[in-house]
Amino acid sequence: MPEPVLLATSQSPAEEAIWRDALARAMPDERIVTAADPFDRSTVAIAIVANPVPGALAGLPALAWVHSLWAGVERLLQDATLPPVPVVRLVDPTLARTMAETVAACVLALHRDLPLYAAQQRRRAWRQHPARAAGACPVAILGMGEMGRASAELLLGLGFPVRGWSRSGTAIPGLIAHSGRDGLGTALDGAAYLVNLLPLTAETRGILDRACFARLAPGAGVINFGRGAHLVEADLWLALDDGRVGHAVLDVFAQEPLPRDHPAWDHPNVTVLPHVAAPTDEASAAAIVAGAVAAFRSTGRVPAGVDRARGY
Ligand code: NAP
Repeated sequence: MPEPVLLATSQSPAEEAIWRDALARAMPDERIVTAADPFDRSTVAIAIVANPVPGALAGLPALAWVHSLWAGVERLLQDATLPPVPVVRLVDPTLARTMAETVAACVLALHRDLPLYAAQQRRRAWRQHPARAAGACPVAILGMGEMGRASAELLLGLGFPVRGWSRSGTAIPGLIAHSGRDGLGTALDGAAYLVNLLPLTAETRGILDRACFARLAPGAGVINFGRGAHLVEADLWLALDDGRVGHAVLDVFAQEPLPRDHPAWDHPNVTVLPHVAAPTDEASAAAIVAGAVAAFRSTGRVPAGVDRARGY
């Protein structure tokens, strides 16, 4: 009997079973166990996790590394009981492609005024608005990682001038790259659309605030696909009220599911998405995790993890 691989999630038993099946299919020689199964905790070297409940990875003396099934690992890193082992996050081109499609769909929807025409339709109002050229509408993308780069490439292909902001000033052909606090201001200045694809860290929490919105073009579109805590909600409501921001597409919230009495549901200039900008594809993610597990089994090498001090 091989040493077990622990699957730890905070999902419903039905959702967890889908992951377990996908992982079992991707690595048929491994024994995948969950907390509900009988297994010897002292033999577990690998844990595969999706927002595990705090403490789920404590008491595993042989744990060598953890693979997250999610791209964002901020909740996992906040668990004070997380053992000091490498934490590998999901890097999946399928996920990045999905994110890029959703970013492009939302930028185009705002660019071609689809929320405005939907509101007019509800009033049976027949009124045409001028179309703007993509080339005259800069998009600022915060975060030039897996998600940001794929999104930038698609938007560049659609003819938008794209400015990217990252810690290191990551550049891709055609993109105007910025870094640092001054660079953030330059990236935002006069941008018609702001797309947030940053990880949530101590440095990026609350970055979408009044000062940020003040740099954008009047009536700009704001798209938050990072995390809810990136956004200072009160500042967004003010910016929507005074027209600084024309429309916001929010996919992530401080509290999820979004409470039924949250003002975002009814705001005429807010589109609410239920955290679906880039859902993890079980088959593709399981194949990536299986590759990392197989490499560890054959070489004993632990994959490189996220920088826990940096927070991503
Ligand atoms: P990633 O590859 O780790 O990229 C993170 C990017 O953010 C990097 O470009 C990094 O700069 C930049 N960054 C981090 N801290 C910064 C700071 N203080 N100042 C400036 N730039 C900073 O992450 P990813 O895979 O693209 O994912 C990004 C986030 O998207 C995730 O953490 C998650 O929150 C979110 N996400 C959301 C969904 C959804 O469905 N809504 C799905 C997947 C992911 P460097 O390049 O210099 O390191």
